[in-house]
Amino acid sequence: MALSPMMKHYLEMKEKHPDAILFYRLGDFYEMFFEDAEIVSRELELTLTGKDCGLEKRAPMCGIPHHAAPTYISRLIAEGYKVAICEQLSDPKASKGLVQRDVVQIVTPGTVFEHDVLEAKRNNFLMSVYGTKNKITVCYSDISTGFIEALELSGDERIKLLDDVLARVKPSEILCNLAFKNESYSLSAVKLGYVPEFYQKDEIFEYSKAKNIIIEQFAVNNLSALGLSTDKKELSIAVGSVLLYFEETQKRLISNIKKLSIIQDSRYVHLDILARKNLELAQSSSLNQKKGSLLWLLDKTKTSMGGRLLKSFIDQPLRDQQQINDRLDSVEELAGDLILRESLADTFNGFLDIERKCSKIAAGTITPKECLALAETLKRLPEIKNLLMGCKSKLLRESGERIVLLSDIQKVLTDAIDPMAPANLKDGGYILSSYNEELYQLRNAGEYGKQWLAEYEKDQKERTGIKNLKTGYNRVFGYYIEVTNSGLSMVPDTYIRKQTTTNSERYITPELKEMEYKILNSKEQSIELESKLYAEIKNYLVSYISELSEISSAVALADCLISFASVAADKNYVRPKISNDFKHIKIVAGRHPVVEAMMEGEFSSNDTILDENENRTMLITGPNMAGKSTYMRQVAIITLMAHMGSFVPAKSAEISIIDRVFTRVGASDDLAFGQSTFMVEMSEVSNIINNATDKSLIILDEVGRGTSTYDGMSIASAIIEYLSNHLHAKTLFSTHYHELTDLEGKIDGVKNYRVMVKEWDNNIVFLHKIARGSANRSFGIEVAKLAGLPNELISRAKEILIERESTGPQSVVANNEVKIDTNANVAEVINILKDTDMDNISPLMAFGTLQNLVDKVKK
Ligand code: ADP
Repeated sequence: MALSPMMKHYLEMKEKHPDAILFYRLGDFYEMFFEDAEIVSRELELTLTGKDCGLEKRAPMCGIPHHAAPTYISRLIAEGYKVAICEQLSDPKASKGLVQRDVVQIVTPGTVFEHDVLEAKRNNFLMSVYGTKNKITVCYSDISTGFIEALELSGDERIKLLDDVLARVKPSEILCNLAFKNESYSLSAVKLGYVPEFYQKDEIFEYSKAKNIIIEQFAVNNLSALGLSTDKKELSIAVGSVLLYFEETQKRLISNIKKLSIIQDSRYVHLDILARKNLELAQSSSLNQKKGSLLWLLDKTKTSMGGRLLKSFIDQPLRDQQQINDRLDSVEELAGDLILRESLADTFNGFLDIERKCSKIAAGTITPKECLALAETLKRLPEIKNLLMGCKSKLLRESGERIVLLSDIQKVLTDAIDPMAPANLKDGGYILSSYNEELYQLRNAGEYGKQWLAEYEKDQKERTGIKNLKTGYNRVFGYYIEVTNSGLSMVPDTYIRKQTTTNSERYITPELKEMEYKILNSKEQSIELESKLYAEIKNYLVSYISELSEISSAVALADCLISFASVAADKNYVRPKISNDFKHIKIVAGRHPVVEAMMEGEFSSNDTILDENENRTMLITGPNMAGKSTYMRQVAIITLMAHMGSFVPAKSAEISIIDRVFTRVGASDDLAFGQSTFMVEMSEVSNIINNATDKSLIILDEVGRGTSTYDGMSIASAIIEYLSNHLHAKTLFSTHYHELTDLEGKIDGVKNYRVMVKEWDNNIVFLHKIARGSANRSFGIEVAKLAGLPNELISRAKEILIERESTGPQSVVANNEVKIDTNANVAEVINILKDTDMDNISPLMAFGTLQNLVDKVKK
């Protein structure tokens, strides 16, 4: 038995695209066969059937109607599959034998640009990573917006740095070369499932191919014109691989990708996945969604491209003082001018996502309705430009300058496109008759035909001088001219004789035939003409992609700055002073912006001072729930907001430029990988110790908790010493080991702070105020009481505490040794404790008693 010809062709296609699910077009359906059919029926819950394929067994088959394909494809993409779309290229009705079919597009997670599949305010990135012995080069691009950026990572740190880049960019699909595939498994972004597994695709990582496609894509003579000189071969390969993959999957050059940026990764504050998660920059950790994150708070953008840019502002805090101040200048100008801000915001309301429309223009898939929306949006440009050009700050004025008015496009589109354009273009009806005379004629062929004929008759009469010349119609040869015998001598040569009647002759002319053809086939012809006219319009738009992208990015920038400014004005934020010159973080009356926005009562503000000298480490003690972790995050978030160019929630803030933020807070996702809490904690701390510099900001929440008290305390103490003495990093360290407060005075730069609580009548109230000094005890039992544990249990806990405190650890000293004084007069201590009436002791008396005990034990 032999395969049917169609099935043979199917298998040939499938062989060329082994890693994609092949959607094979058969009439009004896409069919999948064999294993693909099984996958699709399982993933999309569709019925699995079979088809005769010429072999003994029927081939498993699964089908979907072609008009429903986008939804199904997006579901498969979301599951990480690739879909190759094989279309019918010849008309089945017209073609004899097998219909011609070929793969016209491969849809993959990193190359989708259908807008309904994508989130409006998020980029969708494809990333290529090319690793060699001592370098990693990276390129990422969003085909739906035309954005493309590349960078190079070298040195021993490069894998770590790549992890940060992954955390920042969060690509949906990643390609790499063979040499890097194995290394990719060591990336925590991959281990944590934060990004998809790297897909090895060696054939696209090749210098000569890269060179050719880059030159073609960016229309340059040589690579150096783009900053890709010969010593940047690896970088060129990474860029080339992205372009080659686009070409392979889209089967065309992506004309909206026009501007390559090569960036220094050191441009941004480094933030790894943990820091991003702990600080809840783009996503809240409890809800795993935008709500409750800093992005949620700061995003008041009106446009989708503004939304995407704002997300990148949050994801990529800057390190360049000038760039940050440029943003701050504009935010200041807008924050202080409500009318300007609102007028601009109004013009941005409902502004079209031009950036993504450019990708549709480039692909030739923009619809008439979208064209009209584009025209509508372009109408607003004069006002926007005018407002921006009137601004004082650099970024806003530059944005104004970058906006070209494009009134020609607007006119063409509004002149051409019918506002009542149907969604389905098959039957025409989307180009206005008034746009094109011929189209008008075709549309009104019946009416128009009559009129034309009358005029033609008149005209012919005049030309030939035949007075009784007439036009008519019959079914045999259509429209004709009839001349009675008396006029025959005057008939011109151009008339073609068709019929003789008793007293007249009938003729046809080329003009008559043409008109007749038009009238009889007017419907088909008008549809064809519309499609031709529309193709011209689309081509015309393609020639303006650069200008449109420029407008889009100018609007996006202004939109972001307005968003920052409105939040600043609404929430009473101030402009931070940011500089490389001073080496401190000084915040007066700072607030946690998100906690403040989410809570009902009033947020208690707190000051911060961290510098390179005596204030390197803030050691914060205080009971659980007192606000330690909120405070530490607040310092990091205010610092980062300043680096983003945003105003900050404080009375005043002076922030020196930092290189990284590290956090170690609570348990992390690594637990799912079977490591113990303590092991995870220590490897996170080790990462910090190995990578922090004197320009880093470090937040350590309750480090050392995962092991026994002595171990934990000793380790915590050693970490503080190391960070303060060796790294000189600015550190916030919270702990419930009160013993650690001994470190102040022993280690340079360590200062004790406590979160104040008020206690009376055996109860405590959290004041959420940070003050110098150490908390006198942990209040753990009181907190447990607040949490609602039964009184009986609470009393018992107090008893146990007293027993324990008589035998527990006493102090930790700076040289990391834990000294337990076994010679203490245990009996005396026990006696003091026995005499203490816990139910009738004031905090002051309790402190005195404790002091007494400690003195005795230490003696
Ligand atoms: P800790 O880390 O000390 O256990 P948290 O920082 O988690 O405490 O704070 C506990 C709760 O207290 C927070 O959820 C918040 O609602 C509230 N809180 C914290 N800091 C403040 C503050 N400065 N002002 C008002 N409420 C606060």
